[in-house]
Amino acid sequence: MSMIAPGEVWLVGAGPGDPDLLTRKAEKLLRAASVVFYDALVGQGVLDLVPRGTRLEPVGKRSGRHSKDQGTIDQMIVAAALAGERVVRLKGGDPAIFGRMTEELDACRAAGVRVQVCPGVTAASAAAASLARSLTLRGQARRLTFVTAHTQSGKALDLDWQVLADGSATLAIYMGKAAAAGISAGLIKHGMDPATPLSLVENASLPDERIISTRLDLLPIAARVLGNGPALILIGQAMADPAKFTQTATSRKLLRA
Ligand code: SAH
Repeated sequence: MSMIAPGEVWLVGAGPGDPDLLTRKAEKLLRAASVVFYDALVGQGVLDLVPRGTRLEPVGKRSGRHSKDQGTIDQMIVAAALAGERVVRLKGGDPAIFGRMTEELDACRAAGVRVQVCPGVTAASAAAASLARSLTLRGQARRLTFVTAHTQSGKALDLDWQVLADGSATLAIYMGKAAAAGISAGLIKHGMDPATPLSLVENASLPDERIISTRLDLLPIAARVLGNGPALILIGQAMADPAKFTQTATSRKLLRA
């Protein structure tokens, strides 16, 4: 029996780009679909797993490029389901993290369409894996904050700087490249140490991945060096050179000896 009934919708996390980071369930759902609506951020390697003969519909939202607004996307998914298609809505990373998932769930439910969700590997997890750094760190990074620095065009960056400038957390900033200068200035102004370690990971998990590790006050310069790919900014002590922690652990052992 097919994993997707006719008239049913699955919101599926496509992960950060590397097709090997897709869940087995997501891959099965891609095989079961009759139509796949996908975002611009979904990697080509993932799309290559969609069988020939399955309709592939780009609904790509990527600032500056051709895109459909959220309402149109909601309508397209619902219309396909009501026409009896087996619908996969493929979204970059995890659908529940800055993925407009609720809008699509609501649209389906309002139309009486059955809808389910398959999670995916979010960009922050992929970036941490590429860096071989933990997002949390015993005693130093007890909290992990997912935040988006995306602003509606023309509007100023409106973040709760006081809360974010907490040196004992790791910040995972999505859609933050364009706002890099504002992020750096805002955090420093609210008391974060300008020397706080940070990493930028562009195209995490993909062959053209790029990593820059630097410090908070140099974020604006580092962001300018990056290309056009999606980039994640990770800020906090957990981003310090891992050798530092290894050394500390070793020297502690030496001291005890
Ligand atoms: N739902 C997605 C996030 C969508 S918002 C997830 O869970 O990952 C889009 C932002 O995600 C991008 O602007 C970028 O900050 C981040 N992103 C997505 N894919 C990425 C990748 N492969 N490498 C680095 N950042 C990525």
